[in-house]
Amino acid sequence: MSDTIFEQARKRLDDTLKYYKADPETIARLSKPKAIHQVSVPVRMDNGTLKIFDGFRVQYNDALGPAKGGIRYHPNVSLDEVKALSFWMTFKCAAAGLPYGGGKGGIIVNPKELSLAELERLSRSYIAAIADVIGPDQDIPAPDVYTNSMIMAWMVDEYSKIKRSWQPAMITGKPIALGGSLGRDDATARGGFYSLQNLRTNLGLKSGELTVAIQGFGNAGYHFARIASEAGYKIVAVSDSSGGIHNPSGLDSAKTFQYKEQSGSLKGMKGADAISNEDLLALQVDVLVPAALENVITKKNASKVRAKCIVELANGPIDNEGDAIIDENSIPVLPDILANAGGVTVSYFEWVQNRMGYYWSVSEVQEKLKISMEKSSSTVFQLSKEHKTSLRTAAYISAVKRIDEAVRCLGTEKQFVKQFVK
Ligand code: NAD
Repeated sequence: MSDTIFEQARKRLDDTLKYYKADPETIARLSKPKAIHQVSVPVRMDNGTLKIFDGFRVQYNDALGPAKGGIRYHPNVSLDEVKALSFWMTFKCAAAGLPYGGGKGGIIVNPKELSLAELERLSRSYIAAIADVIGPDQDIPAPDVYTNSMIMAWMVDEYSKIKRSWQPAMITGKPIALGGSLGRDDATARGGFYSLQNLRTNLGLKSGELTVAIQGFGNAGYHFARIASEAGYKIVAVSDSSGGIHNPSGLDSAKTFQYKEQSGSLKGMKGADAISNEDLLALQVDVLVPAALENVITKKNASKVRAKCIVELANGPIDNEGDAIIDENSIPVLPDILANAGGVTVSYFEWVQNRMGYYWSVSEVQEKLKISMEKSSSTVFQLSKEHKTSLRTAAYISAVKRIDEAVRCLGTEKQFVKQFVK
C-alpha cells in the first residue's frame, strides 16, 4: 500500500534527521501532532433540515509559539490531509523565522453546493465548535482552499461574540476594513520572487532576461507572473485547470489575466499557442513555477523536466519519488516551505498589527517581507552548502534547528531545576 500524504510528509523529517542531530525530545514531539480536534459542525440548511458536517483542527506543534495555519473547505478533506498540512505549516513557520508553530483545519464539504447563507452558518458553527482551542495566543487560523476574506470576517465576528470582546488577532486573511493587512493579496508570489532574486546567482541562473513557465494562474501564479515580468523576466507559458498557453516571445501578464477574467479560462487566447499542463512542465525554461496543486511532478514525468530551476509556490507539487529524480538531475528547487512562506509571513504581520492596533503602509509590509525572505533563503542556501544537501533538506534542517533550540531550552530548564530539587 502506498504511503498516505501524512506519511509522505513525515519522511521529509526522517531525511532531515540524517543531517542534523536533534534532541530526542524534539524528535518525539515532532513525530506526531500535539492535538487533533474532530468536531461535528451542525448547520441549519435553507430548507429547514439540520445537516452535520465533519470538521477538523490539528495543532501539530507549538514549541515556537501559537499554531498557525489555514482552514480548507473541500469534499476531499480528510484527517490525514489536515495532519500533513499542519506538519508542513510547522516547518514553514519555523524556516521563515516566525514565532509560530503549525496547525491546519478543514471541513468535509463542497462549498459550491451551499447557499451564501448556509456557508455563513457553516463557518460560524465551525468556529463555535473549536472556539475553546483557538485564539490569538493558542492557534490562529487563516484562509486556504475555498475559504477567503469574507469567511474570515464571519469567523472573527463569531469568535468575538463568544468571547464578548473584539478579537481581530484570532484569525488572519481578514478584509482590510476588519484589520486585514495591506500587501497580503500578493504576498505569497512576492515572497517567492524575493527568494528567487536573492538566490538567483547561487542557483546558476544567468544575468539578463530569464524565461518562466507557470502552472496555475490563480492568486499565487498570476501575481508571480505580474511581479516577475515587471522585474524583466519573460513569462513564456501559463496554465489553469483547463490547459495552458505558450508564446516563446513572451506573454503580457495583465492582458492574460484580463482574458481569463472575461472568458473564465485561458483557452483560445490570441497571440499564443495552446499547451497542455503536462507539456508546460517539460518546457525548456530558466524558471518553472508550479503554482496549482500537489503531486504534479512525480516519477512518471520528473525526468522530462528541463527547467534550470523550480520555484514551488504550490504546496507539495513534487512528490518524494519525483523529488529524488529532480535532485539526481541537479535541478535546484526552491522548496514550498521556503518559496511560498510569504503568505504566512504577511499573515504574521497582520497579527502583529492587530495586536498593536497600528497599521503599516503597503511599502512597509513589502520591505519587511523582503528582509524576511532574503534572510530565510540565505540561511537555507548556506545550510545546503554546509551539509551538501538539496535546498529542500536544508530548509527542513533550518526549521528543525529552530524548533530543536526551543525544545532544548525547555529540557535544560528541567535539568536546571533538577540540580536544586532532589
Ligand atoms: P487559486 O485557487 O487562486 O489558483 C489555483 C490555480 O490553479 C487556478 O488558476 C486553477 O485553475 C489552477 N489549477 C487547478 N487545477 C489545475 C490543474 N489540474 N492543472 C493546472 N492548473 C490547475 O489558488 P492559490 O491561492 O493560487 O494557490 C495555489 C497553490 O499555492 C496551492 O497549492 C496553495 O496551497 C499554494 N499556496 C497559496 C498561498 C496563497 O497565499 N494563496 C500560500 C501558500 C501556498
